[in-house]
Amino acid sequence: MTVPIPPGVYDIVPRDPKEPWRSSYIWNRVETVLREVAESFCCREVRLPMFERTELFQRSVGESSDIVSKEMYTFEDRGGRSLSLRPEGTASVMRACIDKQLYLLPEAQRLFYLGPMFRYDRPQAGRYRQFYQFGVEMIGNPHPEQDAELIQMIWTMHERLGMKDVVIGLNSLGNEATRRHYREALQAHCRPHFSEMSEESQRRFHVNPLRILDSKDERDKEVLKGAPTIEKFLDEVSRRHFARVQELLTALEVPFSIAASLVRGLDYYNHIVFEVTSGKLGAQNAVAGGGRYDGLMKELGGPDLPAVGFAIGLERLILTLLKTEGVEMGPPKIRLHIIPLGEKAVQAAMCLAGRVREGNVSCFLDLSARKLKAAMQQASGMGSEYVLVLGEEELTTCRAELKEMSTGRTQSFPLDAIPRFFQKSAQESAFDHFTSCNKC
Ligand code: AMP
Repeated sequence: MTVPIPPGVYDIVPRDPKEPWRSSYIWNRVETVLREVAESFCCREVRLPMFERTELFQRSVGESSDIVSKEMYTFEDRGGRSLSLRPEGTASVMRACIDKQLYLLPEAQRLFYLGPMFRYDRPQAGRYRQFYQFGVEMIGNPHPEQDAELIQMIWTMHERLGMKDVVIGLNSLGNEATRRHYREALQAHCRPHFSEMSEESQRRFHVNPLRILDSKDERDKEVLKGAPTIEKFLDEVSRRHFARVQELLTALEVPFSIAASLVRGLDYYNHIVFEVTSGKLGAQNAVAGGGRYDGLMKELGGPDLPAVGFAIGLERLILTLLKTEGVEMGPPKIRLHIIPLGEKAVQAAMCLAGRVREGNVSCFLDLSARKLKAAMQQASGMGSEYVLVLGEEELTTCRAELKEMSTGRTQSFPLDAIPRFFQKSAQESAFDHFTSCNKC
């Protein structure tokens, strides 16, 4: 009997023809772009544990948040400690900053992370129990300019990947008093309609009323019609901060729109919050989210340092990307496929493959000892670009024919010249490009 995979998790495999977004070559490419962009903004990587003391998330994300109140994978270890699989990355980054006093090092004030997060939620398209986030945190700068630079970074990432149908929604949560007053105003608006709201929103009404705004239930949407927006409750400083971020984003040509009901579900945000949404996803349309959390480091026992950050959900990013017109994501190509015939040829083929790979060229060596016809069929099935058959004759003459699979053309080369041919010719019509090699 086989053991099925648990619900809400999935495998990332070399190539998944049914669910292409689960193909590792796509993940590798996307992750490379995200890293490159983060590094171009001088962010440095942190790799943090996948579980932490439960208290860390209770004190940061908040007891009343959905994540902590009902979605965490919490367990007791053999030493009786309550631990939780991390449901998000920011709390761990803050904990590590405090532990290691990272904020004292100039190069550790801009950090990025990449890894799995865990939330026990009802699985559906775009929502998993283990999912991956790429996150960035910028520590120590309280100014709106820092927010704008961070949003510019997330936009650059989407642009660099070729994503088109995504929108940045922006809002301000102001300061602590703003949120307190707004919470009261929202409760006052919803109270007369309490019995018309969904059960979930009735619960949120008491523990975390701002989350009612995130509800997708039609009954709640009806109740929320005409509800006050947080904008009215912003103080002068928050208003100026918000306006400056908008001014800078406009100057930087980063498109955004004001999302008056965007509040995000975590307790630690203040001032700016933002979300990237995609028109290509269904109900779970948020690709990335972030904001400013100035009080969090202090709340966790560290110095009173401001910070701002975001996290991109890689599943949704990749799902959106694959639905975007003009984005080509073919599997990696095998440049050279060598078929040795006989034992002596295997040894020579291994040496040759080694030299070809020195130039970072992908080279597949067929060690199956199958018949030539079957081996050629496999080379064609694998989409290899060039095939070289190495038999007795080739070993004696030290020459072999290279076959370009897309055209069927062949050309004879001294074996010694093969590695150089692949290093020089990145293009398809490599033969024409490399005629000089016949001299060697
Ligand atoms: P959050 O930490 O809730 O602000 O989420 C940031 C991003 O992580 C979201 O915009 C999603 O792209 C992604 N995300 C959050 N929860 C899940 C989940 N259960 N499954 C897949 N992606 C998720």
